[in-house]
Amino acid sequence: MAEDRFRVRPDRKFRLEDHDPGFTGRFESKEDGKRHLEEGLAKLRDLQEKLYAQDQWAVLLIFQAMDAAGKDSVIEHVMSGVNPQGCQVFSFKAPSAEELDHDFLWRTTRCLPERGRIGVFNRSYYEEVLVVRVHPQILAKQKLPPALVTDRIWKERYEDIGAFERYLSRNGTVIRKFFLNVSKEEQRERFLARLDQPEKNWKFAAADVEERRQWDEYMKTYEEMIEATTSEEAPWFVIPADHKWFTRLAVADVIVETMQELDLHFPEVSEAQRQELQRARALLEGG
Ligand code: ATP
Ligand code: MG
Repeated sequence: MAEDRFRVRPDRKFRLEDHDPGFTGRFESKEDGKRHLEEGLAKLRDLQEKLYAQDQWAVLLIFQAMDAAGKDSVIEHVMSGVNPQGCQVFSFKAPSAEELDHDFLWRTTRCLPERGRIGVFNRSYYEEVLVVRVHPQILAKQKLPPALVTDRIWKERYEDIGAFERYLSRNGTVIRKFFLNVSKEEQRERFLARLDQPEKNWKFAAADVEERRQWDEYMKTYEEMIEATTSEEAPWFVIPADHKWFTRLAVADVIVETMQELDLHFPEVSEAQRQELQRARALLEGG
């Protein structure tokens, strides 16, 4: 269900206002959704084992959102069941001096998942058409030759991202991108909770409240970016994020549905291998 409902189609106009951050579908409460989530996580564990054993496909999951939308907790919960050896999570913060000395896809390219693995990007190269666009002073520090910085730069970055994702998918990396759609009001409440509860204080960053003042600018930028970069091979999913329990369930559903389409299976044992296994058994049984 999630795969279809939240997927952004490349051939249609995309409007963020058509997506309700408070949506919870047929589930009324966290309790109500619990079984569904647990079943989803069990399926995911099983699919991931096969992905690993088959060693052909790689899966790349990209998470983007405003602060406090719940990226960290979704990643933690959805990946909690899978074998850590088959899954790698990378978080991308403001780039280092070394990273700024390279093209904008460099640092994330080094972290792409290998065949058989699930790679998770907590923020990604999409920051390059989000925070960098909302704050022109960040672009100014990217050391690009001035002749290349024109008003076409965002369109060019969308194109480069699209080409890069097509290239990856043609090489066996399956890409799914999630925008966790939290409302401005819910974000406010989560920030207040970070201030009120001592054990959440560490998560509070004054800079996040500054960013919040540009909420409308961010929403416009997200909307344009999602419309321009959703594609058949690397679709965006706009996931309702005002209820964390629903966000987890919906993200897990999309991943499960995606992996079910891959026809994953354990490698088959050949006749020669089977005979070898029988010889091994005979040896072991002999003492
Ligand atoms: P998060 O907010 O994702 O939970 P965090 O609070 O642990 O993570 P921050 O120190 O807030 O980490 O780092 C993320 C910050 O880095 C965000 O404000 C993000 O916009 C910024 N960032 C990420 N990629 C880039 C980039 N390519 N250029 C500039 N800023 C970036
Ligand atoms: Mg932050």
